[in-house]
Amino acid sequence: MTVDRQRAADIARELIAEHLGDGWSFAFDTAKRRAGACHYTKHSITVSRYFTEQATQEEFTQVVLHEIAHALAGADAGHGPEWAVTARALGYSGARTLETPFAREKAAWLGSCPGGHDHYRYRRPTRPLSCSLCSKRFDKRFLIEWTFVPHSARKTR
Ligand SMILES: [Zn+2]
Ligand SMILES: [Zn+2]
Repeated sequence: MTVDRQRAADIARELIAEHLGDGWSFAFDTAKRRAGACHYTKHSITVSRYFTEQATQEEFTQVVLHEIAHALAGADAGHGPEWAVTARALGYSGARTLETPFAREKAAWLGSCPGGHDHYRYRRPTRPLSCSLCSKRFDKRFLIEWTFVPHSARKTR
């Protein structure tokens, strides 16, 4: 069963209030290629409304926790160890969040830009990529850093 949108927004706002406090806000966005994003400078977390339409409550919650962990760990942490430890402490289980209706279902490479946007690829990109959401043209300031997601952490069915 998919999560009700109003309920989803309530869940996100409660989790943000609990872990990040008043300075942070939540909103839906219209992304089609990724589920959630952490906007470090704007102090906001957004989740795709298309993703939410297809997500269960658990999947939605997991995406919010993923992004809260980015907010806590900071942009420089990417999807590295510091972020992973933070995310786990919040109750995030990477495996569950990769079980989503999006392209990342089978993605092996999880990327993160300095602006907090998540990116997914089936294969490791062969050349440096910058985030198309942060800048329409290639821009070294917005390079995506890639982390390999082991097969066991991905969707198996
Ligand atoms: Zn991420
Ligand atoms: Zn970006």
